[in-house]
Amino acid sequence: MPGVGPRSAERIALWMVRAREDQPERIARAVIDTRQSIRSCKLCGFFAAGEICEICGDSSRSTELLCVVEQPTDILPLEKTGAFRGRYHSVGGKISPLDHVGPEDLRIKELLDRLGREKITEIIFALPADVEGESTTNYIVDLLKDKPVSLTRIARGIPAGGGLESADELTLCAALSGRTKISSLKR
Ligand SMILES: [Zn+2]
Repeated sequence: MPGVGPRSAERIALWMVRAREDQPERIARAVIDTRQSIRSCKLCGFFAAGEICEICGDSSRSTELLCVVEQPTDILPLEKTGAFRGRYHSVGGKISPLDHVGPEDLRIKELLDRLGREKITEIIFALPADVEGESTTNYIVDLLKDKPVSLTRIARGIPAGGGLESADELTLCAALSGRTKISSLKR
């Protein structure tokens, strides 16, 4: 199991063998239930107990904003901020010829289908800022550039609480080119 080292595994195994209560059985049942009941939302790819996830089914969220992420797990940190009230679309990976992952392996066709069906006015790209993430963003942007939808990307730059001296050159370049206006030149 991820995050469990040999020492923890041994402690857990001993606890399971010695436990008098039915806790180990309850945990086992919860694991089986989770495996059987959680699937991918057929719209956005996030985790869902039914056909559609809670986010896609939430009528209070904006249907005009769509945030494109790599993996369904990328939705969790964005949701924790509470700052985004649109919907998501997980493409399920990045274009990577070295790993034999092409555009047809990703949920890009599903994204185009949604654009034709839903009233989306802005697509926000939040794919990773590495080489594969960039080429995936560029590939999708190329497909969408003539569609009546604005295309944006989340800003990259200095983390909150981080100093300039600890940032690498790529991050500093991205922070400079993605600068935002505080006030204009007054004459
Ligand atoms: Zn969904």
